[in-house]
Amino acid sequence: AISVRALHKSFKSVEVLKGIDFDVRQNEVVCVIGPSGSGKSTLLRCLNGLETFDSGSVTVLGHHIGESRTDLRAAREQMGMVFQSFNVFPHLKVIDNIMLAPRKVKKVGTAQAKAAAERLLAKVKLEGRGDAFPRQLSGGQQQRVAIARALAMDPELMLFDEPTSALDPETIGEVLAVMRDLALAGMTMVIVTHEIGFAREVSDRVVFMDDGGIVEQGTPTQVLEHPQHDRTRAFLDKVL
Ligand code: ATP
Ligand code: MG
Repeated sequence: AISVRALHKSFKSVEVLKGIDFDVRQNEVVCVIGPSGSGKSTLLRCLNGLETFDSGSVTVLGHHIGESRTDLRAAREQMGMVFQSFNVFPHLKVIDNIMLAPRKVKKVGTAQAKAAAERLLAKVKLEGRGDAFPRQLSGGQQQRVAIARALAMDPELMLFDEPTSALDPETIGEVLAVMRDLALAGMTMVIVTHEIGFAREVSDRVVFMDDGGIVEQGTPTQVLEHPQHDRTRAFLDKVL
């Protein structure tokens, strides 16, 4: 589903991605871990064209990201993205947040969009909350609305950038539970996270990044229980 080759990216004179090779197969759940500033968000943003890059190639679902002829909008319609801060519109009710893109972009009719939105609310364990405004919800609930909103476009894959790191501890679990359900349902997912327990339990593969590069990757057991590199061990010692 994703193929990244020799990806280089600098901000001014600082190289933040130093030649990344990164692949994700269909239905695979990949967690990306690593210290702050290692380039995790930048890599994720290169996948959906939110960030330009200097050299290398990024192919997502057959779209050549970063090439001028590529229809980025078409590519983005197939990948949902959920960020650390909840990307919901505060002035729209929950249901309208979820219906917005299907109606505007896919020209789905109101009744059909509403029925689909209600199914998605049930999926993220928020049935009956469609008439609430985001401010009336907890952070964890808002983040689940953001997930439902991304799912409303029926994406082929989902990108998550630290979806729980801005949440109160008591609401983290409910967001992770929704993500776990998605993973079990076969969604292709790339998840940048500090939740090592979640990564161990849910991911097919863990990728450890440091200083703009992938230091090692493998099954959760390989990377988290038997890391091969000192940098991975040092990171895990700090976060576990
Ligand atoms: P964190 O865990 O803190 O989210 P990260 O691994 O996601 O970190 P990135 O956000 O990808 O790291 O940042 C990688 C490097 O690029 C950092 O040194 C950061 O300061 C730098 N950087 C990121 N975005 C920009 C920008 N828009 N302009 C300049 N430098 C940037
Ligand atoms: Mg980041």
